[in-house]
Amino acid sequence: MSEGTLKSYIDGEWVLPATSTDIVTATNPATEEICATVAVCGHDDVDRAARAARAAFDGYAAMSLDDRIALVENLIAIFERRYDEMVTAISTEMGAPYDLSYNSQAECGPGHLKETIAAAREMEWERKIGSNARLVREPIGVCVLITPWNWPVNQLAAKIGPALVAGCTMILKPSEVAPLSAQLFAEFIDEAGFPAGVFNMVHGTGPAIGDALTSHPEVDMISFTGSTRAGIQVAKSAADTVKRVSQELGGKSANIVFADSDLPASVKRGVLHCFENAGQSCNAPTRMLVEASVYDEAVAIAAETAKAAKLGDPMEKGRHFGPVVSKLQFDKIQRLIQIGIDEGAQVVAGGVGRAEGFNRGYYVKPTVFAGVHNKMAIAQEEVFGPVLVMIPFKDEAEAIEIANDTPYGLAAYVQSGDMERARRVSRRMRAGGVSINGAGQDYASPFGGYKQSGNGREWGEWGLHDFLEIKVINGFEG
Ligand code: NAD
Repeated sequence: MSEGTLKSYIDGEWVLPATSTDIVTATNPATEEICATVAVCGHDDVDRAARAARAAFDGYAAMSLDDRIALVENLIAIFERRYDEMVTAISTEMGAPYDLSYNSQAECGPGHLKETIAAAREMEWERKIGSNARLVREPIGVCVLITPWNWPVNQLAAKIGPALVAGCTMILKPSEVAPLSAQLFAEFIDEAGFPAGVFNMVHGTGPAIGDALTSHPEVDMISFTGSTRAGIQVAKSAADTVKRVSQELGGKSANIVFADSDLPASVKRGVLHCFENAGQSCNAPTRMLVEASVYDEAVAIAAETAKAAKLGDPMEKGRHFGPVVSKLQFDKIQRLIQIGIDEGAQVVAGGVGRAEGFNRGYYVKPTVFAGVHNKMAIAQEEVFGPVLVMIPFKDEAEAIEIANDTPYGLAAYVQSGDMERARRVSRRMRAGGVSINGAGQDYASPFGGYKQSGNGREWGEWGLHDFLEIKVINGFEG
């Protein structure tokens, strides 16, 4: 192992794997150079982490809520002190442009942790129920947290925060594609003073240690965020030991644009939102459904917006988009763009090939397809790149039908000048979150999906519930 190889964190110690000598490397997507070398764990390390988390559980669960919150407040202070390091780590490992990393990606860390504390203080942890019983909420136990690379700190904080506040102990397996932000987060936790074994982190890939983690008999709960494909494998692997599995999976979210909306503003906002984070957001509005009477006008606005979109160096400040995360992802997006062309959809901006002006880096051309039918592969599959499809609809009923005609159900967006209609359509969306006319979502709201977008709800109070068991003690009240 070379100097600088990233270690795992087990039972309060930074450790190299006991027997595995495997390494994986992560690549800076803007330069195509290696940005991290990671020593990856084997099954023996997973077992050691699970036993450490189990041994720490009783003591940590018995600590008062105030004491646990005080430790999380230490963590927030350390995060805020070392904030700039986190911004750099995110931009380096996954290519989010500086402004996005600074204002959103890194900000999710303190943002979620603070909201989780506020929710825990508001929560009714115990109450009388029925005539003589007491209802109590208790930490579920040892949790495995598996996270993706696309909003790396968001996922870390939305899982680690509530698990720590609830009184659980945990093993994090961060994405092997984005290990730098997880390494820093683990350093912050180490410095915050949590008892050894409460937080453990094992580096590794899904195929190598996924099953060892998700089937481990000492693990009570799994919080997984990633692709629907991997989420299904995780649930199957966890089934034999009857673990709770919370899944946050993929999406193909519809953005319904009615003719009575402020069309230029709605379309431009929708295109830019789709391209944010180089299109690598699970809740990105990737299917724009437009009322037929204004469809051609909307396509022209979308094409113009995409053509004006600037790409640039993630390390530089400014309003530009970055590369996608990896060659694998770049190639997958290219393949899907070509499939869209072969299916007969019309490219009105972008297309296949590396974006002009770059001789290195995984820069995808911001792409807009018109003339798309919802049954096409580009309208059904999660592309996870800056690729928007535009589909016409004739009336409200058809818009709702097309929007819901997807295996996913993470988010939906509605643009209309008629608030009654916007509210009515929002209620008909089979999705975990709906936004009207560009409204944002704050940390107190639940985030999660219907259908194959998963079954969990993270953020704020809802995130805490995932990590809590409910017990009733009959006769407790005399
Ligand atoms: P991925 O499924 O490839 O990997 C996610 C994590 O799962 C990684 O840590 C990976 O190592 C691990 N993993 C893979 N196979 C595993 C297995 N069999 N057992 C255990 N762990 C396994 O996803 P990704 O490419 O990192 O992330 C992109 C995906 O995540 C997209 O589909 C996106 O929509 C989804 N996502 C969903 C949400 C949400 O909240 N719903 C948020 C962000 C990303």
